[in-house]
Amino acid sequence: MYFNVAVIGGGPAGMAAALAAEKKGCSVVVFERDKRLGGILNQCIHNGFGLHYFKEELTGPEYAARFAERVKNAPGITVYDEAMVLSVTPERTVTALSPYAGLITVEAGATVLAMGCRERTAGAIALTGTRPVGIYTAGTAQRLINVDGYSVGKEAVILGSGDIGLIMARRMTFEGVRVKLVLELMPYSSGLKRNIVQCLDDFEIPILYGHTITRVEGAERLRRIYYAEVGEDIRPKPETEKYVDCDTLLLSVGLIPENDLINGIGIKMNPLTSGAVADEYRQTSVPGIFAAGNVLHVHDLVDNVSAEAELAGSAAADYAKGVLSHGEACAVKVGAGVRYTVPQTVYRGTGKVDVYFRTDGVYKNKTLKAESGGETVFSKHRLILTPGEMERIEIDKSKLKDSLTLRLE
Ligand SMILES: Cc1cc2nc3c(=O)[nH]c(=O)nc-3n(C[C@H](O)[C@H](O)[C@H](O)COP(=O)(O)OP(=O)(O)OC[C@H]3O[C@@H](n4cnc5c(N)ncnc54)[C@H](O)[C@@H]3O)c2cc1C
Repeated sequence: MYFNVAVIGGGPAGMAAALAAEKKGCSVVVFERDKRLGGILNQCIHNGFGLHYFKEELTGPEYAARFAERVKNAPGITVYDEAMVLSVTPERTVTALSPYAGLITVEAGATVLAMGCRERTAGAIALTGTRPVGIYTAGTAQRLINVDGYSVGKEAVILGSGDIGLIMARRMTFEGVRVKLVLELMPYSSGLKRNIVQCLDDFEIPILYGHTITRVEGAERLRRIYYAEVGEDIRPKPETEKYVDCDTLLLSVGLIPENDLINGIGIKMNPLTSGAVADEYRQTSVPGIFAAGNVLHVHDLVDNVSAEAELAGSAAADYAKGVLSHGEACAVKVGAGVRYTVPQTVYRGTGKVDVYFRTDGVYKNKTLKAESGGETVFSKHRLILTPGEMERIEIDKSKLKDSLTLRLE
């Protein structure tokens, strides 16, 4: 079977990429391992989605449903749900397994990777202590409560202040769970400021920055966690150890792009994002393979995921038709205060290109500067910049010379 574009993953990124490619007249196939399209948004029943993209406030399932409806009505898009992609080759042969369609193999003119991300687990952070019931990743607890209708516990502590943990602090409070404490290793939250205010402050849930769990205790069920302040080396100071009794611990300690599928097929990876190195069109180092959404770098807002995936899907369509062209390449480099950028390559030409980035710490009263060929091509004063909020700047492509460097001054 041949399709112009094959999309792996039917979350917000996969759906937006598929629609953009179909709009350009391409035949598109979408593989989704779950029973329905929508990705992780199907379990995010809170509101706050779509403020940028749809200019209205939607819940996660509402946001996903709008795209899923469009995908279903798009004549050029074939969807295989319950189809787990097992492999993709550099030549863009995609193999998937489905309980009702068996082994499916397609050849594609271009491929868009949109597999999302997964959560770091207790094993990944080497959590010390016993292994009782009651320890969940925040996303697992979210699915158990919101999709499956279970209660996860009565008294909870949350480790990590990522957005999912913050959202779950509020969600569990609504369910009658007493959220006693949120512990954050860093001196700042890795989540959005709006979530700190709306999910913790509004419910008087305390958060301790610069603190972490030292061990958990409990035979069958979790009964107590110990925690301590951390020093500058981010190691717990034993003399500060305290405990809190609880039957539930949620881990919100980071997301990892779901890239196992592309291990070993020659795609250059960025160790800072754990996603592929990508250019302005979100094309990876293997020609014809594009990536978008959380599989490329972890986004805070799904609105940005949809915009990025439309770009990738549209470029994948152009590639499949042999019409993707661009000007001279300019590497995007990080300077003082900037942790990473996406994309890592932009092209000289006409029009504008958006560059997304995160800072490597909390900065106040700084000027964000972008320079190319020794000249400033973007400059803006910012009152505050934090790693938890992804930033975006717009660069005039005609001003690009050799490389583009972003820094804080
Ligand atoms: C638990 C959790 C809660 C979140 N809450 C919020 C929130 O409140 N607000 C917000 O703006 N953002 C939230 N996010 C971020 C949100 O995930 C992203 O904004 C957005 O959903 C990312 O879209 P995506 O398509 O890249 O990934 P996903 O939504 O994760 O979709 C990826 C899809 O790919 C499929 N897939 C993966 N591998 C394969 C394979 N091998 N074969 C076939 N299919 C595959 C998965 O089943 C999934 O459906 C949350 C993320 C998580 C993990």
